[in-house]
Amino acid sequence: MTCETRRLIKREAQITKDMVEKEGQRQLAVAKSLGKDIIPNNLRKIATLCDIDEDYNYDEDGEDTRRKNATRKRRKAIRPSSYGISERIENGRARRGKRGSVISESGEWWDPAKPIYYDFDDKIADGLTKHNQSFAKILQRALSTIEENTCFTFIRNKGPSAKILYVDDAKLGCFSPQGKSSKYNEGKYKISLSSAADCWTFSTAVHETFHVLGIAHEMARPDRHEYLLVDDASITNAGGNWAGEFEYYGMIPFKSPFDYGSVMFYSPYDYHKSGKSCEPVMFATDARYQFTMSGEEGPTFYDFKQLNDIYKCSASSLICENGGYTNPKNGQKCNCPSNYAGATCNQLAPSIGLSPNCGGKYSVSNSWTNITADIKGSYDNEHKCIWHFTSPANSRIQLKAKIINIENVTECNHDGYCRDGSLEIKAIKDLSQTGYRFCCDETLTKVGNTFESPSNYLPVILHARQHFKISLVFRAIN
Ligand SMILES: [Zn+2]
Repeated sequence: MTCETRRLIKREAQITKDMVEKEGQRQLAVAKSLGKDIIPNNLRKIATLCDIDEDYNYDEDGEDTRRKNATRKRRKAIRPSSYGISERIENGRARRGKRGSVISESGEWWDPAKPIYYDFDDKIADGLTKHNQSFAKILQRALSTIEENTCFTFIRNKGPSAKILYVDDAKLGCFSPQGKSSKYNEGKYKISLSSAADCWTFSTAVHETFHVLGIAHEMARPDRHEYLLVDDASITNAGGNWAGEFEYYGMIPFKSPFDYGSVMFYSPYDYHKSGKSCEPVMFATDARYQFTMSGEEGPTFYDFKQLNDIYKCSASSLICENGGYTNPKNGQKCNCPSNYAGATCNQLAPSIGLSPNCGGKYSVSNSWTNITADIKGSYDNEHKCIWHFTSPANSRIQLKAKIINIENVTECNHDGYCRDGSLEIKAIKDLSQTGYRFCCDETLTKVGNTFESPSNYLPVILHARQHFKISLVFRAIN
């Protein structure tokens, strides 16, 4: 089943824009009345990583940053290790005066009933990532993932009808205009995914495409103050008004809950004025979420749900379980939270990957039990191992997690991105949301290693793009 008719979508979109503006003004007034965020010391202690690994004091060339601090600051500002340095340059200009009004800058909306034609330049067509993968294929996988989960369709079309043009532009970095707007590039929406700026990843391709579809950053949500504190005073001003990027923005009347795993996050460790990637500018109010932010695992259940809600992408009839909803393109299946699967989300999601002990179902008793898993993931053979722990009714599950070893890993939390994978512990009430993610034992240790599920079911997911060895120790408690 496809989306609603074009006429209906246009009418709904108009209503949406009005709703967004009205609700946006209300949310913004509340947010502004709160003033600057104050960071409690306990959060700062957990989030700051400079004490746990001397590597954090070295930049990627292995040179001591203390010796070349001045140049590093400059590099930090011109090297967009996070999404879209230039997003802020261009969007900063476009946003002024309109901040807080609409998600789409121009108020124009894409028509999801029509295919979106796109093309990419030769550098992307021929380029290989650091891990020797074709970036054109990764980009196309990003677009098919959006297609599979929403009512949008993307078709490659070399020629004048291509509306979105993906380019590798080192000056632009990772950049996309926000929302549909005919003022950009004579009708073409240029999205820059620069290899030099480290934009050649699946998650960045999705992130920038979400921008052009009208989605703003998660950390700028007007309701973020309940979940996230921003230390304005620590944000660098070298090369631009970076603090402006963290101001409240992106009004959403369709309340998808705040999602620390959203693909629309920057890393908390970007843009610190010290130039050190061990110092955060953003602090999760639930410290266990501090290392989840960056969006590196790609779009989440709620990222897609929000996009579908905004564009009124829906298909009726099928009743989904466990928080799922009908897939907008296929009325015979549901979009499910990450730990569920099956046509109606009534099954536990299977693991992907052939390593022994990669996920499985476990009955949890009162005595401690230990699983060790040696997961030989790689960039060509990404593993997603899901352990489903269930304890007797009315009990809960206590879990101690350890990341024993990661092979071939060049960056753990060095810039806040878990590029090589992460261990996700869904010891949370709403299982549709992202759990607590960690990609090195030091950050797990920072929050105490031990988790307790709110119910008698606990899913744990390992996303492994390199070789991870982990141990999980668990028991039932009352
Ligand atoms: Zn962005």
